[in-house]
Parts: sequence; C-alpha cells; structure tokens
Amino acid sequence: MSIKDNLNKINSELPSGVTLVAVSKTKPNEDILEAYNTGHRIFGENKVQEMVAKWEALPKDIEWHMIGHVQRNKVKYMAEFVALIHGVDSLKLLKEINKQAKKHDRVIPCLLQMHIAEEDTKFGLDDSELQDLLQSDEFKAMENIKIMGLMGMATFTSDENQVRKEFAHLKSVFEKLQQKLPEISILSMGMSGDYALAIEEGSTMVRIGSSIFGARNYQ
Ligand SMILES: *Cc1c(COP(=O)(O)O)cnc(C)c1O
Repeated sequence: MSIKDNLNKINSELPSGVTLVAVSKTKPNEDILEAYNTGHRIFGENKVQEMVAKWEALPKDIEWHMIGHVQRNKVKYMAEFVALIHGVDSLKLLKEINKQAKKHDRVIPCLLQMHIAEEDTKFGLDDSELQDLLQSDEFKAMENIKIMGLMGMATFTSDENQVRKEFAHLKSVFEKLQQKLPEISILSMGMSGDYALAIEEGSTMVRIGSSIFGARNYQ
C-alpha cells in the first residue's frame, strides 16, 4: 500500500479526539509531501537537525513535533518553529526551552515524558521526579513554556498485558496531574505496534511511523 493509503486507513480507524503524529524520521521529503498532499499536517521527528532541514524545505503550515530525546544545546535550533516537544524529562531542559522560547517571543508547548517501561534504557521522569519538577519555584516562574500533558513509551515486548498495564499507569498519572493542572489535555502514547492498546487505555495522541511510511532503513 502507498503512504496515502496507509494514512487514510489509519485515520479512518482513529476515534475522534485522538490526534495522529505521522513519524517521518529518516524518511525523505517526497514521502512527507505524499502524506501532506492527503491533507495531513502533523509530523514527528526525533533528531533536531533533521527536523530543521525538513522545516526549511517543506511547506510552512506543517506542525513539527519533536518526539525524541532532546539535548539542551540543540533547543536553540528548533525554538523558532517547533509545535510540541514530547520528550521533556528534566527541569534543566525545560529551563533551556523557556530561555530559547523567550528569545523568539513565543510560548513553546511541551509534554513531560514519564518513564513507564521496564527497560531502564528509556528516558523519562518517575512519579517523584515529576512532583519535584512541578513543585519547584523555577518551574512556576517559567513563562515561555506551556505543559500540555504527558508522553510515555511502553516496554518493547509482545506481552500485551504488560504494555496495557504500563499505559494504564501513565493514564492514572495523567488524571492525577489533571487535578492540579486542569488545562492539560494531551496524553501521547502509542506507536505502530501498540497504538490500538494505547487508545483503549486513554491515549489522545499517537505517534505512528512505520505503519505509514514503511520500515526504516538505518545506515
Ligand atoms: C520512532 C518513534 C515512533 C514511531 O515508531 P513506529 O514504530 O515506526 O511507529 C514513536 N515514538 C517515538 C518516540 C519514536 O522515536
């Protein structure tokens, strides 16, 4: 199936209220344009330089989401245009985003990434780190970032119960956080292999790459 067919199929299956981020990392601009020409506007990348190059080359009404781990020294390159940063997992990074957003006189929407997987290789905050961050005076003073919700990645496993449990945990953290920050609305969870489960467990934003663009080819 073509990119267009894949995208139309996935879109037709997503419940209303679930936003699709088409993950275009490693894929060429022509592939992104094929998706763009179906009307899709939200794309996700995991490397800042690659996202900047694509932003420069492609139509300016694309909403670019940074879904990968962000190094602080790279924030400045995307601060002008990034629409949502999914992988914020430290106060230090948030401070840098706030600083760079201020330079461009904008407020950058962010998600806090939670560590929900069993693997300890995946980035993210645990529950107590989340509380510490939110309670810090430095966080409260930031005016150029806006926390829109949470993001998480489940363990890479074929054990559906495990994945479901991890998504359900993230959803419960999200609901608790909503009592303190009623304005948050985004729960970013689910990729090609597990987005159906993620939606069942309350996801409002799925990040799908290979099921739209095909398998990635890393040199
Ligand atoms: C690559 C990536 C995705 C998409 O993965 P697929 O399995 O290709 O859908 C989603 N989220 C993050 C954080 C990624 O790095």
